[in-house]
Amino acid sequence: MIFTKEMAHQQITELLEVQSGLHIEAESETQIELTGDIFINCKSKGFFLSENYPVQIVIPLNSNELPYVIDNENRIAKDYPHRYDNGKLCLETETSIRIRFLDSFSLVEWIREFVETYYFSYEFFQRYGEFPFGERGHGVQGIVETYQELFQEKDPIKVFALMKAICEHPYRGHSLCPCGSNQKLRLCHGPIVMKYYMDNRLNKIVQADYKNIYDYLVNCYEQLRYREKAK
Ligand SMILES: [Zn+2]
Ligand SMILES: [Zn+2]
Repeated sequence: MIFTKEMAHQQITELLEVQSGLHIEAESETQIELTGDIFINCKSKGFFLSENYPVQIVIPLNSNELPYVIDNENRIAKDYPHRYDNGKLCLETETSIRIRFLDSFSLVEWIREFVETYYFSYEFFQRYGEFPFGERGHGVQGIVETYQELFQEKDPIKVFALMKAICEHPYRGHSLCPCGSNQKLRLCHGPIVMKYYMDNRLNKIVQADYKNIYDYLVNCYEQLRYREKAK
């Protein structure tokens, strides 16, 4: 669970102090909805953005669902790949955001880290045709990219092998590293991936993502087989 009602209110108070263009629009037992303008003031890579964006922000209560932002006045171009058809902004992979929320990550920090960066990247892309901090793929591609960063490992096959091991065994530093290097885990990827074995909350996130990738691969294989048969 990410927010109880009490936690959400505390953090919204803090948020409205820095984002005074927002207000609580509606509230129920399951979510709090903020609307108004969010002010983005950011400078990076020689580009300065200082602009208000009308948004609707939804904070689910007593749920595992992450908070999200809706571009309710269509300020983001319809053909921009990181805006869903329903207006929801594609801020980052769920994995990246979820991991940040594990350790006292506030709504203010969430806005700064993900929402500001989103609008900054958007405006930068509109002007220069490229993304200032790179671009995250969608679906399974995005998940794999996220773990490539988290595990500091470029090879997606090694990433997948590490995820599998994290899901299936306890941490054993003296056993061989699942990446196939023939070195002991503690002398190879161990120091980086140890917390995903040890921290139950991180382990659960890896398990869900591993299952996603696994199901995707099984599905690809089934389709290949089907095509072979049809020949
Ligand atoms: Zn996206
Ligand atoms: Zn390794």
